[in-house]
Order: sequence, then structure tokens, then C-alpha cells
Amino acid sequence: MAEIRKDPVSGNWCVVGYTFLKNTFVGICPFCPGNEGMTPPVIKEIKNKDGSWAVRCFPASNPIFIIEAGENKKAEGLYDKMDNVGAHEIIVENPVHNKTMSSFTIEDYKVLLELYLYRITDLKKDKRFKYILIFKNHGELAGSYIFHPHSHALATPIIPQRLELELYHSKLHFQKKDRCLFCDIVSQEIRQNKRVVSINNSFIAFCPFASRFPFEVWIMPRFHSAHFEHLNEDAIKMEFISIMLGVMKRIERLTNAYTIVIHTSPNIRTFQGQFDNLLIDDHFHWHIEILPRDQRSSKYKREDEFYVVPTTPEESAGILRSERV
Ligand SMILES: [Zn+2]
Ligand SMILES: [Zn+2]
Ligand SMILES: [Zn+2]
Repeated sequence: MAEIRKDPVSGNWCVVGYTFLKNTFVGICPFCPGNEGMTPPVIKEIKNKDGSWAVRCFPASNPIFIIEAGENKKAEGLYDKMDNVGAHEIIVENPVHNKTMSSFTIEDYKVLLELYLYRITDLKKDKRFKYILIFKNHGELAGSYIFHPHSHALATPIIPQRLELELYHSKLHFQKKDRCLFCDIVSQEIRQNKRVVSINNSFIAFCPFASRFPFEVWIMPRFHSAHFEHLNEDAIKMEFISIMLGVMKRIERLTNAYTIVIHTSPNIRTFQGQFDNLLIDDHFHWHIEILPRDQRSSKYKREDEFYVVPTTPEESAGILRSERV
């Protein structure tokens, strides 16, 4: 069974001993309408007027995190580890196999957004889950082998390292200046107007000052909000969809591989009584990161939120030792 281990040197969490399965559906897409029987039973579906599904969500058949596991935190000398408790769900974004985010309609985005909001809110009810991470990989360079448009929802018993860093720095900024770091970034980007891609009343899309990838874009609300899943006003949702769609049209003109990740607040329920919950509301600010991939950038660095490794270090060492040299 896979387990989660913490590297004491970097603070990185890794999932080790996870078995990657080969895609056995050669020539048949398990996500296409008609093939629903090839996926685990559905958790949530939003239907079209004609009764067919518009988006659907089900447990991953080979989950990285498992809902039945206990936390089971253990030490091995100075090392920390725990079972891979959590959840891993697949969200099929659209019934049409070869639609991509630039060809989604407003209606397509609406139902997808509803499903995202619902899954985050629902998974956050489980106190064992510290973080709910929604992301999608599009294109083989981004690590996706099923072309049909889909995203992953991961509920993790740890906070992914990139989030931990964002929370740390935004908290420092708030303590020093009594202001939200992200709100400050938004106002500076508007003032400087050098990196803005598009803007409307409620959202801004811009290339971040220290971009990790060419054409990296962040979409951020211009109003302060820590929780993506609190996006509930229809007019604001429409503004979000319109900026997202515009950005995706531009991105897909330039690249056919990208990762999109939603960075929302951690699960405040988990931290009740342990941490300054209120502070997270004040200093964190949700946003979407769009990370295009190209040959160069993928070769050097994949911006994974955490590492998933099939071979345990004990096995690796055994295999290396057994090589005759
Ligand atoms: Zn398909
Ligand atoms: Zn803010
Ligand atoms: Zn972020």
C-alpha cells in the first residue's frame, strides 16, 4: 500500500509505493457517453435538459489517496509518515471527447463550475482532509494520456507544498502590513499594466511577475476572498467564466499542453482550535494558476504539488544494490 512520507530536509511530502496502472482502454474512451459502465459508480452528475449528463464525477479507479484508510500517523526514527488517507475523484468535464477548454460554451463552464464548487464544499466536510486540490492536465506533455476533457479532485491529509509556501508568505505579508498580499498584487498589476492579459469588473488575468513557465497566467478575483467555493453570485460567476474562457482561447492558440490548478483555502474545519482560522480568511486569496507546458519547461521542472513515486526507497535501494557492478 502507498504511504505518505515527509522529507525532513525540504519539508516535501511524497506518496511512495503508488502503483501506476497502464491505460487498459486502448481505442475505447472510458469517459465517453455510453461507456459509463467502465468507470466506478458516479458520485455526482449534472444533467442536461434531455436527461443526458453534462458533467459527472466518480472515484478514480486507481486512487492516489484512499477514503477508507486511517490517518495512522507514525514515526520511523526522525522520519514522519502516514497512510494515504484522502479522496481521489475524476471529473469528466464534458460529454464531447475532443472538446477543449477553449471550445467549451458558457453553459459548459457553468455546469463544470457547479460541480467543482459542490465537490470542494462536500469534501471539506471531512475533517481528515486538510486540503482539496482541483487540477487538470491537458496534453501528453502535461502528463495526461486520456484525451477526453477531465480534471482530478484530490482530498489530502497534508497541505501540498506549494500551498504551504503561499500560506506562509501571505501570512507574513499580512502580519507585517495588515493587508492581503494577493490584493496588493492585484492593485500593483492594474497600476503597472505591464503583465495584464485581461480584466473585467471582478477578475484579473495576468502573467505573474516571477513566472515559472512561458505564458503562465493567474486568474484572481479583484475582491478579497479566501475560498473559491464561496463563489455563489450568478453575476460574479459569469464574469469568472468569461475571463477564464478568454484566457483559455488565447492559451490554446499558443500551446496544446497545460496544467490548470485551483488554489483555494485549506480546510478550516481541520484546523479548528489549532490555528488562527480567522487569519486564513484575511490573508489567503483564492486564484487559478494556468501553467502551459512546452518541451523545454517540462524537461527541467514539473510543477507538481507533491511527488508520487511508484517504487519505495527501500525497494529502489535493494534493486540498485543487486545490480552487479
Ligand atoms: Zn471520450
Ligand atoms: Zn486579498
Ligand atoms: Zn497559487
